[in-house]
Amino acid sequence: MQPNIQSKLPHVGTTIFTVMSVLANEYNAINLGQGFPDYSMSEALIALVNKAMQGGHNQYVHMNGLPLLRERLAEKITALYATNVNAETEITITPGGTYAIYTALTTILQPGDEVIVFEPAYDSYIPNIEINGAVPVLIPLVYPDYKIDWELVKQKITPKTKLIMLNTPHNPTGAVLCADDIVHLQNLVKGTGIFILSDEVYEHLIFDGRKHESMLRYPDLYERSFVCFSFGKVYHCTGWKLGYCVAPPALMKEFRKVHQFNCFTCNSPVQVALAEFITQKNNYTELGSFLQQKRDHLKSGMQQTKFKPLPSYGSYFQLYSYSNITDENEKDFAIRLTKEYGVAAIPTSAFYKNGEDNKVLRFCFSKKESTLDEAVNRLMKL
Ligand code: PMP
Ligand code: GLN
Repeated sequence: MQPNIQSKLPHVGTTIFTVMSVLANEYNAINLGQGFPDYSMSEALIALVNKAMQGGHNQYVHMNGLPLLRERLAEKITALYATNVNAETEITITPGGTYAIYTALTTILQPGDEVIVFEPAYDSYIPNIEINGAVPVLIPLVYPDYKIDWELVKQKITPKTKLIMLNTPHNPTGAVLCADDIVHLQNLVKGTGIFILSDEVYEHLIFDGRKHESMLRYPDLYERSFVCFSFGKVYHCTGWKLGYCVAPPALMKEFRKVHQFNCFTCNSPVQVALAEFITQKNNYTELGSFLQQKRDHLKSGMQQTKFKPLPSYGSYFQLYSYSNITDENEKDFAIRLTKEYGVAAIPTSAFYKNGEDNKVLRFCFSKKESTLDEAVNRLMKL
């Protein structure tokens, strides 16, 4: 008899980000697909990591993360969101935001639980739910502004609803939650046992003077929330894969039970360096305007093409409609764009379980202006 592997994720292939980046490399295309900066990160932060390594910070740090880094994060949270979280009991450093999300879901979900997921959804959410034996309850964000239809959410709540997943600023659409959404959410979960997982990895990448509506601002929401963050997005180093989760003590206690036997503890010298660097607030307070300029640069260049922008208020991304160029489906068009025109983008249909296709592609603008300009030059040929 042969060992016969039974897939835990039978319907899952390779993530679209890897597929498109491999294709972009193969065809030497400009990669506006996968979300990562092509400009360099801070030399000062790199020097601090070197210093930490040379200073001997090369062994395991505490499993919950370097205490000083957690303390500094707690101070940052107080300054930004006017709340006190306890560094000892409410913050855990993780190997990236994706891991924090997976760990939070694994901590909370039991087989058969229902999880409200808004689509388009970041590609790891649904597989993370399903691998835990839980059931994603899919709710479309309303095209073309991708707002939440709270009436519909109310209708989808059942006694089995365990958790609502939120992502603001939102990947792939750049939509952000507003004060009004928070009121709906507060009314919806009040008096229920529903948890919230809030993916806030783009907390600083928010534009046009909008305010980041973190769950950390609202005690009645935070008491039931796991809030997930990524240093990769804040310090232009997505390859570092370091992030953190913030949750109230009772939730965090359970999160740590899962974490300690999966990753246990994260890279030490990087945490030592970040604990020092994080005190320079301009590194994150200026991020929104830095990325907003890039969004605007791409948008003004794209006016010379046939692509039509949809609004983006945050994240690395803006969706563009191509419905007046072709009626090809998003995936085929994204592949053709990469192969024939040398620009890679992400088909938004990849963020829908049923592959909904509105003829929109996601473009990543966290790139050098010269990269964005060259992409526009190529797209003008369409
Ligand atoms: N959530 C969203 C919406 C993201 O776009 C990303 C970026 N990859 C992550 C989570 C996770 O980030 P990390 O690389 O830190 O795992
Ligand atoms: N978050 C990034 C994106 O949306 C990529 C992360 C990944 O490749 N998994 O493009």
